[in-house]
Amino acid sequence: MNFFDIFSKNRKQQSKPSEAPEHWIKCQECQSLMYFKEIENQFKVCPKCGFHMRIGARERVDLISDEGSFLEFDETLSPTDPLKFVDKKSYKKRISEAQKSTGRNSSLISGECTVNGKPINLVCFDFSFMGGSLGSVEGERIVRAVNRCIEKKQPLVIVSASGGARMQESTYSLLQMSKTSAAIKRLSEHKIPYISVLTDPTMGGVSASFAWLGDIIIAEPGALVGFAGERVIKQTIGTDLPEGFQKSEFLLEHGLIDMIVKRGQLKKTIFDLLTYFESEKEEEIEALEEVTQELEEDIVDDVTEEEEVVQNEVEENKEEIKEEVRDIKEEIEEIKEEIKEEIKKEVREEVKEEIEEEKKKNKKKGFELKLKK
Ligand SMILES: [Zn+2]
Repeated sequence: MNFFDIFSKNRKQQSKPSEAPEHWIKCQECQSLMYFKEIENQFKVCPKCGFHMRIGARERVDLISDEGSFLEFDETLSPTDPLKFVDKKSYKKRISEAQKSTGRNSSLISGECTVNGKPINLVCFDFSFMGGSLGSVEGERIVRAVNRCIEKKQPLVIVSASGGARMQESTYSLLQMSKTSAAIKRLSEHKIPYISVLTDPTMGGVSASFAWLGDIIIAEPGALVGFAGERVIKQTIGTDLPEGFQKSEFLLEHGLIDMIVKRGQLKKTIFDLLTYFESEKEEEIEALEEVTQELEEDIVDDVTEEEEVVQNEVEENKEEIKEEVRDIKEEIEEIKEEIKEEIKKEVREEVKEEIEEEKKKNKKKGFELKLKK
């Protein structure tokens, strides 16, 4: 069901005579008095001036997700009070009051859903739970949502509506800024898109961490977005500040956010962005495949060239070796001849010597014979 259907369906149900005057709502901006159902059907956007009133986390989930598709995770995670913190009331009491009034354990809802059929992980802050503050449970639920995104390769959408870090948790809540920022970094390493939606108000530790780390940062019209409040900044720097310097319109003009989207257009915009990211991914894959193919071809060419070079070298070496073998053979033949000559000479000399000796002996014998006679 889209929201115009809800609008027309609910319009038929309105105007019961028994309903009391508290069903009338005054627009903070244009002061018009309107019937509450008329406003609710427009997701609390004033039909007269377009002012975006604050809405709860559940309404936000209904606005973005396909009907019946939202599945909440980690809803049983509940805050503890490690510092035993007490200001005007104890932190424990504040938690239990918030739990009673909202029916939830933390200032956000996180889970999986589809947006016009596209699966995402959705986190929505609820300002009515302790000012939408960021505590240990909220930080943990965001990290778990990121883990599911990585595991299932689903984009993440976080809708912030928060006063900042939860002061009752002191350092524990400040740590959630780095914890969630580190988780968002892991998303980018896995090339998973993260869309951050800033609504009225997004301040303090929330704006100073994950809310401003979106691949795309969307803000609602007229939302108060900043770190410290106007009064604190004015006291610190001691000068007047430009009018509306913490409103979405000012931030867009100065390049701090990517777009301002009216509530009625939010779901469609998120869907369009998801489609865009998908096509980007496909293009990237195609480009990668092309580069891989080119590289493969280059490698094949290189290998073929190398092979040719090696083969030529082998051929050249063969010839060289053959020549060397020929030379060695010739040398051997020469040496053989030399040795033969040597041996011949030696034998000749020996024989000569022997003959000489025989001659000498014979001469002696002859002489002896002569003497006997
Ligand atoms: Zn208005």
